[in-house]
Amino acid sequence: MHSNYLIAGVLLSTTSLCAAEVIPPISEQREQLTCEILYAPGQEPSQDRGGYVPWAWTDGIMFYEFASNISSTNRTRVRSSMNLIENVSPVRFVEREDEINYINIQMLGGNFSYVGMLGGSQDLSLYNFNLPYVIVHELTHALGRYHTQQRNDRDNYIQVNSGCIASDCMGNYNIAGSYSYQAYDFLSVMHYGQYDCSTGCVTMTCLPGYEQYQNQMGHTSYMSTKDVETLNFLYPGGSPDPTVLFCNADTTEVQAGDTITVTGVIKNQGDWAATDIYSRIQLSEDDEITTSDQFLGFDLYDYLFSDDFAYINKQVVIPSGTPDGIYYVGVLLTTSDEDVDESNNVCVIQIQVGDVTQPCDGDINGDNTVNVTDLLDVIANWGDPYDVSDLLTVIGAWGACP
Ligand SMILES: [Zn+2]
Repeated sequence: MHSNYLIAGVLLSTTSLCAAEVIPPISEQREQLTCEILYAPGQEPSQDRGGYVPWAWTDGIMFYEFASNISSTNRTRVRSSMNLIENVSPVRFVEREDEINYINIQMLGGNFSYVGMLGGSQDLSLYNFNLPYVIVHELTHALGRYHTQQRNDRDNYIQVNSGCIASDCMGNYNIAGSYSYQAYDFLSVMHYGQYDCSTGCVTMTCLPGYEQYQNQMGHTSYMSTKDVETLNFLYPGGSPDPTVLFCNADTTEVQAGDTITVTGVIKNQGDWAATDIYSRIQLSEDDEITTSDQFLGFDLYDYLFSDDFAYINKQVVIPSGTPDGIYYVGVLLTTSDEDVDESNNVCVIQIQVGDVTQPCDGDINGDNTVNVTDLLDVIANWGDPYDVSDLLTVIGAWGACP
């Protein structure tokens, strides 16, 4: 439905550093290296966005999906470019399962993207899969940045030569919002080169004092220091705090070799998304659960937004050969994020393996005390094996075993 949107085209040269001498034929540039911003309704560049924030991806997670005709090689290249951004910012790219807001990565005959998160599915088209920082450029659009030459202070640094800009590319030179956060950055991966979008002459002339950037702007080979700082301004990060709210097992009296189902609820109580969370099920002889206890299984969560919940539902086997006795099955959350609060990322379930000798009559669970736990055990297994005589025994023996 792009026909509803203003589509502004521009060219992004791969060889800006040496493009001053040789201008490739325009038709060839356009076929190979179109870089366009797509404007959604209400998002025209004349609108002051007031510092990007309404367009940011929730908790810095951008979900993505590939069109089926994109090869595995090109998918790997895109993932590599995503890693370049992840390595220098809290932004995370997560392959979509059923999330509502995501970028739909396609090959639509050029490199172009919307700016920021629109809501729902939004196209991001790539052509130059072989140029990692062209992909970074498009992903950065989708993260919320316009081109540097669209800053409202650009006329202090460059002279825009409108007569040299292809008419259908002018949208990429329109002033778009206020960009007061950083000093003007000629070396940004979001800055065009002097022949991008050109009809044959220089589209932008660096003003006196900045001439040294004339041949440098428009490179496609790195993220500048200010690019990284701007990303971290847009996506400041925070402290994820995955917490086990609750856990349980479908049975707490088992034999070695039995399968039990561990269920539970976890929540991210921090102020930023947690990613790559493992809920590890461990078997311990004491109620201090650590990763060095016997590992039974895990659930994996790609991400958990701040304040969101997720569920544990995992079948695990009590290893055959486990000696009879009282044990503890623990849920232990680990994540790739640092600063996890370890005081609330664990939950413990007491289980009984095998037959436990009863220290005294009525001590059904063998914990040396006859109390409500034993009473509930009798009620829960009423009829088999317990009956009214066991109930009376429990009541009669109430209290610590002698
Ligand atoms: Zn662009």
